Amino acid sequence: MAEHESLEYGKADFVLLDNVSMEEFMANLKLRFEKGRIYTYIGEVVVSVNPYRAMNVYGREVVEQYRGRELYERPPHLFAIADAAYKAMKRRNKDTCIVISGESGAGKTEASKYIMQYIAAITNPNQRAEVERVKNMLLKSNCVLEAFGNAKTNRNDNSSRFGKYMDINFDFKGDPIGGHISNYLLEKVTYRVMVPKHNNCVFLFLHQLLRGATDSLIRSLHIQKDPTAYNYIKVGGQIKVLLTSSINDAADFKAVADAMKVIGFTGDEIQTVYKILATILHLVIAHNTRRSFLTAAVAIQELLFIYFRQLSNVLKALLYRTVSTGRDVIEKQHTAQEAGYGRDALAKAMYERLFCWIVGRINDVIEVKNYDARVHGKNTVIGVLDIYGFEIFQNNSFEQFCINYCNEKLQQLFIQLVLKQEQEEYQREGIPWKHIDYFNNQIIVDLVEQQHKGIFSVLDEACMNVGKVTDEVFLQGLNVKLAKHAHYTSRKLSPADKSLEFNRDFRIRHYAGDVIEAFTCDSYTLFQDFKRLLYNSSNPVLKGMWPEGKLSITEVTKRPLTAATLFKNSMISLVENLACKEPYYVRCIKPNDVKSPLLFEQERCRHQVEYLGLLENVRVRRAGFAYRQTYPRFLQRYKMISQFTWPNHDLPSDAEAVKKLLQGCGFDHDAAFGKTKVFIRTPRTLFSLEEQRVEM
Ligand code: ATP
Ligand code: MG
Repeated sequence: MAEHESLEYGKADFVLLDNVSMEEFMANLKLRFEKGRIYTYIGEVVVSVNPYRAMNVYGREVVEQYRGRELYERPPHLFAIADAAYKAMKRRNKDTCIVISGESGAGKTEASKYIMQYIAAITNPNQRAEVERVKNMLLKSNCVLEAFGNAKTNRNDNSSRFGKYMDINFDFKGDPIGGHISNYLLEKVTYRVMVPKHNNCVFLFLHQLLRGATDSLIRSLHIQKDPTAYNYIKVGGQIKVLLTSSINDAADFKAVADAMKVIGFTGDEIQTVYKILATILHLVIAHNTRRSFLTAAVAIQELLFIYFRQLSNVLKALLYRTVSTGRDVIEKQHTAQEAGYGRDALAKAMYERLFCWIVGRINDVIEVKNYDARVHGKNTVIGVLDIYGFEIFQNNSFEQFCINYCNEKLQQLFIQLVLKQEQEEYQREGIPWKHIDYFNNQIIVDLVEQQHKGIFSVLDEACMNVGKVTDEVFLQGLNVKLAKHAHYTSRKLSPADKSLEFNRDFRIRHYAGDVIEAFTCDSYTLFQDFKRLLYNSSNPVLKGMWPEGKLSITEVTKRPLTAATLFKNSMISLVENLACKEPYYVRCIKPNDVKSPLLFEQERCRHQVEYLGLLENVRVRRAGFAYRQTYPRFLQRYKMISQFTWPNHDLPSDAEAVKKLLQGCGFDHDAAFGKTKVFIRTPRTLFSLEEQRVEM
């Protein structure tokens, strides 16, 4: 804990609260926010409140203040956590990770950037060119990923619509030598590309392309410079939001294009990226008529070099699907509705593949090269996870379901690791472990992911019956298998609803609150015909994005894994990956919904504190020992309060000296003496030591 900050700014560590109650927690959080202290600890966890104004606390001089210091020596800061993770890695050869969570607009991405900036600032003292190159690439990759994966929403002007986990690899000297990015579930692609629902807008780069590209590029893509030409931008009267002049699209467009070049995208690759985006735009303006599809097809076949420019193939893929009946392969014409649905799914899938391809391309460039662990020693890693927090809306779709499941997984990991870490430290230090009571959310994780009877399994089963897929099958399956689960309820039919055979939604009691889920089983399958079409492009970049298009209709025997299964698998491997690292946590809180630097909305914040499990976190931390410190450091700070230790002690060890010091103040009963550290149970003791110290 940062002890030296004046109490006028509140308690720098929530562990020091007199009572662990919501009221005291909130009062401290509010006081600190109002005093411009946006960071507060819970032990080694940083709680951060978005200041919504520029804070003068990230400069070079501040970096120097935190460099190599212990957590408690300076006021709470992200830099302290970054330094702790870095030290653990460098001194103890540990892989570490920093998990940043919080809701949209809470400040996760900004935090992750400050952490990377800190790491970049304290490494490579010898200015090695190769390390500088790697650092530059890691920072540039952010710019590209944000352009393609972020959108302006009504909650956040620069909202990340994907989860991001980035490993930074270090050599034995502690300098960055590479990295790897994993992305998770680019969210609500359809809305971003097509219909800005709830005042949400398109991915930033689509907008920058339309507003910022040169006229000749626009012409070559057969699109129109005016974004209002595209119906997805017109829907819901959102034009004024999109066309705010604060966004400098031409400069932004150029910055992203330049960043792609610096990272090493070839000219052809960048052109392909533009063409894919233009194709998506052509798709979204196509109405459900044959004529409109024909216009789109003309543009698409030229942009994408399909089948050596055979128009009929493009049009056919938009209007028909090939079905294998076992013996025969037949072509079935879509209804207008099916064609519209297929077109939307195609636009969405193309964007998703493009995004994944970009991530892969960046990974090619930043991956560690020429590092021989036998020669150079172990290459260690710091991982940074910036992932969406709980989302509870009026209407929650499949994406929210996945996001909330992801948060349950991370909460489970947090519980395990924080408790495990405490337990291990006590064991290491030879101090008896006392059991702590807490809400274990494993039951909710199981509800979602358990084999055969979890929600994902039921969903997969419902999706097996192609053609017969109905949401009723899915919902009925859930009701049969989960009716008795404490965290699941199906919506009860009210008498007025009797005409409905089934309910359309169900409810999950997440640890963060109740969520009504409603999604359809078939909203995320893409007709095979499109995959074959794109695979047959003579543009190698595009072709490479659709490898499964290689299979002909009769060869496609196995159904591809569903989006649900893919997401579940990716979450399981993410959690496995995090679990073997030493974790550090940043918990971000959004103070208000109007981006104001002055407003601390009590209720909004309280809710976040609740679902981030922060009070529980304080309790866990206090149930054991509120404070622990190595003997020499403890002496350094408090030796002046005892005649036995000031100015130096003549006892056989520092441990003996600390014991004597605490005995002298009558505090030895509140302390435990480990092998290398002293543990103090109640914060009161520490306050008292601090007071005596000040009085000296
Ligand atoms: P999302 O889940 O939507 O991606 P997020 O948690 O990543 O949200 P950020 O994009 O990091 O949120 O932050 C939103 C905005 O809040 C930033 O664009 C910035 O204006 C402001 N902000 C966040 N953190 C800080 C900070 N430390 N100092 C100043 N402003 C900040
Ligand atoms: Mg973000």
